[in-house]
Amino acid sequence: MIFKSTRGAEEATSAKAIAQGLAKDGGLFVPEHFAQISQKELLELSDKDYNEQAKVILQKYLTEYTNDEISQCVDEAYSKGTFPDGQVVYKKVTEKISVLELWHGPTSAFKDMALQLLPKLLTKAIEKTGEKKEVVILVATSGDTGKAALEGFCDVAGTKIVVFYPQDGVSQIQKLQMITQKGDNVSVFAIKGNFDDAQTGVKKLFSDKDMIATMQNKGYVFSSANSINWGRLVPQIIYYFNAYFSAVQNKTIAFGDKVNFAVPTGNFGNILAGYYAKCMGLPINKFICASNSNNVLADFIKTGVYNRNRPFHQTISPSMDILVSSNLERLLYHLTDGDSKQVASWMQDLNEQGCYDIGQECKKSLQENFVGYWIDDEQTKKTIKEVFEKTGCLLDTHTAVAWFAANCHDGLEHTIVVSTASPFKFAIDVLSAVQPNATTEPFEALQELAKISKLNIPPKMQELENLPKLHNQTIDAGQMKQTLEQILKI
Ligand SMILES: *Cc1c(COP(=O)(O)O)cnc(C)c1O
Repeated sequence: MIFKSTRGAEEATSAKAIAQGLAKDGGLFVPEHFAQISQKELLELSDKDYNEQAKVILQKYLTEYTNDEISQCVDEAYSKGTFPDGQVVYKKVTEKISVLELWHGPTSAFKDMALQLLPKLLTKAIEKTGEKKEVVILVATSGDTGKAALEGFCDVAGTKIVVFYPQDGVSQIQKLQMITQKGDNVSVFAIKGNFDDAQTGVKKLFSDKDMIATMQNKGYVFSSANSINWGRLVPQIIYYFNAYFSAVQNKTIAFGDKVNFAVPTGNFGNILAGYYAKCMGLPINKFICASNSNNVLADFIKTGVYNRNRPFHQTISPSMDILVSSNLERLLYHLTDGDSKQVASWMQDLNEQGCYDIGQECKKSLQENFVGYWIDDEQTKKTIKEVFEKTGCLLDTHTAVAWFAANCHDGLEHTIVVSTASPFKFAIDVLSAVQPNATTEPFEALQELAKISKLNIPPKMQELENLPKLHNQTIDAGQMKQTLEQILKI
């Protein structure tokens, strides 16, 4: 399978697309066509376990990898050790709605589904592309990505990972998760500034010509663990298939029936993987794109105009606090049948005016597949409380947004709500939604939440309180380059 840049100026094998992360013309790598799964194959796949389903789907896109290599990567990534409760957990909650829990991995967020596998695919990709250098993964994080990437890359041979997080911009649990990270190849720094300062600093490093040349001389090359990397998108296709088969197995739907998926959306990576599953032949009707007060996607789906010129809101669902959803560029490429000139021109408009209009025809195909809804923090908390009281199901602040959106959509199909984080990960806000005057001390909140929900605190979160704090440095945003030079001794 050949991969193309969404802006048209580069082609790559899957291995090169994964090793490189972003295309050189600034575009994102996309497969030249959607791999197809026939009805017969779909039936066969439905009887297999998660890892076997993963292997079949990955083989269709990662054609430069041998079947043995893919098997090895998958079995190492999705093992009992990393996912003790099973890779994903499917639950029918009401007649109309099921929940697919994607947070039973090591960091209790859905990003583990991709970031446990990506380092394994990347190591192999580097061998295949003949890259002899050590790969340096730079991450700017507002919380979930940093920890999931640290867990994924910890002690992976031939890689180093450096994470920068805003000093006051992550929750206490998220901060503890990062600063207690073990591993000989990991570094974590707090930045005096907000997430944008960290992100801008990382982007500057990625494009610093002097830095890149020095790195080359010393045997290093940069890559990305962000969802712009194809190697992070492709693992996410698998669980859409798996969820569908679970719904068939527990007789919520009959084989061949269509379902909807409601997805709490930030960078548009998760929901886009679902669109790939649909285009491959999985019977899906609509994707319900759920946003918080940063409602740029809901407006876009309604009007066909993407406009990032609006205030940024800090919300209780911080992983969705985003005004530019990078993966939308991949969707636009597919909706226009691979018109890379058109995509490049919209992206230029976005850069220069913060805004672009996809026109009537493209809007029509967008709306055939997607609907969008958004709610604010107050409504999110109300949803957590109502769902908990009515069904006993305790949702985190992100998943609650998707639950609400699922109920806004009128339709006969069953809807699967994609659950992206453990409620314990956002314990303080979840607790305050279900209990008035709740504690604001994070470990007390975990205990209290466990008591009322009768769920177990994820062991790795429980033990955070007593782990040694290994990464205590805070730096100015202006010191990021110097800090990196010190770590790499260049
Ligand atoms: C990252 C994240 C999201 C958003 O996913 P995208 O792929 O960026 O759309 C939603 N919820 C949680 C908990 C996340 O960590």
